[in-house]
Amino acid sequence: VGREQREFDYFALSLQWPGTICPSTRHCCAVNGCCRSEPLQTFTIHGLWPDYDDGTWPSCCRHTNFDMDKILPLKPTLDKYWPSLYCSSSSTCFSGKGPFWAHEWEKHGTCSSPVVKDELEYFSTTLDLYFKYNVMEMLTNGGIHISNGKKYALTDVIDAVKCAFGALPQIVCKKGSVEELRLCFNKDLKPRDCLTTTASNENVSKKNSCPRYITLPTYDPL
Ligand code: 5GP
Ligand code: 5GP
Repeated sequence: VGREQREFDYFALSLQWPGTICPSTRHCCAVNGCCRSEPLQTFTIHGLWPDYDDGTWPSCCRHTNFDMDKILPLKPTLDKYWPSLYCSSSSTCFSGKGPFWAHEWEKHGTCSSPVVKDELEYFSTTLDLYFKYNVMEMLTNGGIHISNGKKYALTDVIDAVKCAFGALPQIVCKKGSVEELRLCFNKDLKPRDCLTTTASNENVSKKNSCPRYITLPTYDPL
């Protein structure tokens, strides 16, 4: 932790699907973002991750004192679109407990220099990418209309994103439901393919967790 590490190769914007995660964590309202009165039927942010082309990644690269004051104007947006969907609060690399997004800055954000220099730039870059590349719109335009219990061919979901985004996403499943969807970017923030399981790399093939038909469960709070 805290080692100097070589410069990363590309970014992955990792998004999470509340309908898959929340059913098992909605009871812990003190911490998580699953507790709300309206249905939540969209991807929320997990993190912007600097990655290496060999399927590994750096983490916890430099000690910075997380300063909430520096990002105060973004806080309402971060709380809304980057909620923790888990029950436990997130331990950070260096500074103890904090919101999920503060943990993501310390673990991943601190490794994203020289492209991203500080926490304000990390959060604004992540939010910009999230709003610019709206995965829900990509799915709808590609004919994937979210409906509870419906099964979609994995290839159809990948194609819908590929067609709109211009590059291959990575999809992570849990028991056949989409848990995460990742969009990848070159260091100039232009879309590029995420690593795929065809790469002869076990760091990557571990991610091949989706069956041929997948679901996108809706999350309807009780
Ligand atoms: P999991 O084992 O649940 O897939 O991932 C655990 C943690 O490892 C994630 O929350 C994330 O911090 C990190 N991680 C997993 N896959 C990747 C990846 O492809 N790139 C980066 N940068 N971190 C990852
Ligand atoms: P990562 O390893 O991705 O950087 O972060 C995962 C860490 O944050 C784990 O310690 C996990 O318990 C915690 N965490 C808190 N909220 C969430 C969430 O909504 N999604 C994920 N994947 N991890 C979360």
